[in-house]
Amino acid sequence: SSIFAAVEMAPRDPILGLTEAFNADTRATKVNLGVGVYYDENGKLPLLGAVKAAEKVRLEAAPARGYQPIEGLAAYNQAVQNLVFGANSAVVRENRVITFEALGGTGALKVGADYLKRLLPYAKLIISDPSWENHRALFEGAGFTVDTYTYFDPATRGVNFAGMKASLNALPAGSIVLLHACCHNPTGADLTAAQWKEVVEIVKARDLVPFVDMAYQGFAEGIEPDGIAPRLFADAGLDMFVSSSFSKSFSLYGERVGALSIVAASKDEAARVLSQVKRVIRTNYSNPPTHGGAIVAAVLSSPELRQQWEGELAGMRDRIRAMRTGLVDKLKARKVAQDFSFIARQRGMFSYTGLTVDQVERLMSEFGIYAVSTGRVCMAALNSRNIDYVADAIAAVLK
Ligand code: PMP
Repeated sequence: SSIFAAVEMAPRDPILGLTEAFNADTRATKVNLGVGVYYDENGKLPLLGAVKAAEKVRLEAAPARGYQPIEGLAAYNQAVQNLVFGANSAVVRENRVITFEALGGTGALKVGADYLKRLLPYAKLIISDPSWENHRALFEGAGFTVDTYTYFDPATRGVNFAGMKASLNALPAGSIVLLHACCHNPTGADLTAAQWKEVVEIVKARDLVPFVDMAYQGFAEGIEPDGIAPRLFADAGLDMFVSSSFSKSFSLYGERVGALSIVAASKDEAARVLSQVKRVIRTNYSNPPTHGGAIVAAVLSSPELRQQWEGELAGMRDRIRAMRTGLVDKLKARKVAQDFSFIARQRGMFSYTGLTVDQVERLMSEFGIYAVSTGRVCMAALNSRNIDYVADAIAAVLK
């Protein structure tokens, strides 16, 4: 019989399944709040002007498509380090940070996970409760036992910081802690700067290994403030891993542009780690693709394009904020009993709204509004044309 005869059907990806159901819905008023991408005011995925300009130059230059180095484009990796840590940071100046161009934030996490499994084979890895749904599967796939630390507080819809600290303080030395730099996915609940300082102290005191996932740098407050976590860990002299994604901030999802940065204690250590991570990459996909990284590097290293990009990034950030405060105001105007002001305090693309499974189901069946069953909604899928309809629908299902 076939070697596949006993293969079972894997469960469907819950979010992609939602999009399929949305596409099949024929109601003209339908809204997909289940997505994980930024849509503009017209409900479209933007192609940024800075990206378009850099692509035009590259197309005209018509470069040959040779292999890239295993670690990717040097100009890109340097630009990423400057963005994550600051060009004048000690780790960059002292050559203690190494960066690898990777296939999106996911690819960066995977390369980091595979290398960590070789480096610390017995370490346990912990993620926030809840976390991006791919974190657990990705690290388990790399061979780790994955546990969670307390994070979200359903009462305040913010961070349960006392619970988080208690979880971190109970970890064995050498445990790897996955932290969301900002715009926590799926909750939208972030740590304050003062809380990050406390987390850094605990991580240092307990000899934990920080792995900072930064998929939304620039989406909360701006490049520098959103980089507070990696900067504080670097200032504290800790070894660490950082995964970056430019899927959202450059709207380059399908180009798969991300990076893994690793900070070591010395330049010599960093060089040895570099050689080992190159082996991980070489035996996986050999070297990264050229286009996306070349475009991001071109934008970040041209003062004009960089300024244009920062303006466009601020535009996305401000539009999401306007949708947040708009939804809070509109729900208040509809006299719902609950206090939804937390939506304006949460940051990034997502909000854990507290809507129940039943309420989410009613939004879909009665209104054609699709959201994740956990109550996660994408604030960037709202716009001035659908926000009143969504507010009406939420008010209706709360009754
Ligand atoms: N980490 C988090 C927290 C994310 O939300 C995402 C993407 N939504 C990723 C990593 C993966 O990013 P990419 O799409 O660039 O692989």
